Amino acid sequence: MYGKMKEHIEKELHSIREAGLYKNERLIVSPQDAVIRLSSGQEVLNFCANNYLGLSNHPALIEAASEALRTYGYGMSSVRFICGTTDLHKTLEKKVAEFFGTEDTILYAACFDANGGIFEPLFSEEDAIISDSLNHASIIDGVRLCKAKRFRYNNADMKDLEAQLILAKEARFRIIVTDGVFSMDGNVAPLDEINILAKKYDALIMVDECHSAGVVGETGRGVTELFNIRGEVDLITGTLGKAFGGALGGFTTGRREVIELLRQRSRPYLFSNSLPPLVVNAGIKMFEMMAETTELQTRLHQNTDYFMSEMIAAGFDIKPSKSAICAVMLYDAKISQDFAAQLLKEGIYVIGFYYPVVPQGQARIRVQLSAAHQQEHLEKAVSAFTKVGKSLGIIK
Ligand SMILES: *Cc1c(COP(=O)(O)O)cnc(C)c1O
Repeated sequence: MYGKMKEHIEKELHSIREAGLYKNERLIVSPQDAVIRLSSGQEVLNFCANNYLGLSNHPALIEAASEALRTYGYGMSSVRFICGTTDLHKTLEKKVAEFFGTEDTILYAACFDANGGIFEPLFSEEDAIISDSLNHASIIDGVRLCKAKRFRYNNADMKDLEAQLILAKEARFRIIVTDGVFSMDGNVAPLDEINILAKKYDALIMVDECHSAGVVGETGRGVTELFNIRGEVDLITGTLGKAFGGALGGFTTGRREVIELLRQRSRPYLFSNSLPPLVVNAGIKMFEMMAETTELQTRLHQNTDYFMSEMIAAGFDIKPSKSAICAVMLYDAKISQDFAAQLLKEGIYVIGFYYPVVPQGQARIRVQLSAAHQQEHLEKAVSAFTKVGKSLGIIK
């Protein structure tokens, strides 16, 4: 049997390559950090990790993980409701809720699972899910797993959202679902306006804070801090895999009864293994650090402001952003790839994105800033961008 399928798969792989969409993985042989070593031996400045707060290789988290490894062992070998819950898991759930100003939290193996397991237990045929067109793949998949009616509005377009809310007005429950920060442009969802529309049309709000938690808002509490609506969003999902240490783990935090029901009904929670204690304890340590000081956020915001203003001054076309994502617009797919390749030669590691990851004719390089970047790293990046930009005729 496999012979026929092998041929089919090889064709598929061929067409991915032909379309120029084949994803090659670069080998890193050092910890994740501002400076990384590639398997070629080259050391490069990393501007494409989700390591926003520079915690991926932080000594305090390594120590917390090691301590839990010694005292709680390696794995839980169980789902939460059988014998996979330690006191550490409950502590971390409490810390997440404190951080976001919510009532309770449920942990998952990843935010992909949190989003995959949030809709199906809560919504059915009588209900409506109204989702931003640029929401993350895991939200799209989660919505597909549920029987609610689906409505889609154009990215951050409040007129369209209102039109969809009107279309959904017969539903029993309505929920507006949005990413906090959209990963390709770095734009922030207009939560202040979403909140007004939610009240007007009696809808719940769910925000995926994966790219915004720890980053956006003066103290990094995410988009609800930025728009001063802490406690008004019904459900927040997020990851421990980005700003919050970068290992793995996801969560849903929000209304107490909802979290309680998710523990009973959410399939990725019920049928998937418990997070290992080392990850959980590092997460607890991370939230303790966040409660003590916001110096990493301040550093990240300074780095982001500096980089963006220098890039604009150099003549680059930068998408407006309140996050740590800076989209350097190049529009042409091939130029975006050449640009990234030349930057790598200059010791700057970034990725060029083009259709279908971004709309046709909207190719770009996405730069992700980190609190771990030193001033000299930022200067080096700006001068490399300027050099390559001039040589490719993008800037004068
Ligand atoms: C990264 C990301 C996820 C997935 O998070 P994991 O914990 O890595 O599964 C979900 N939603 C958004 C918006 C993301 O950016």
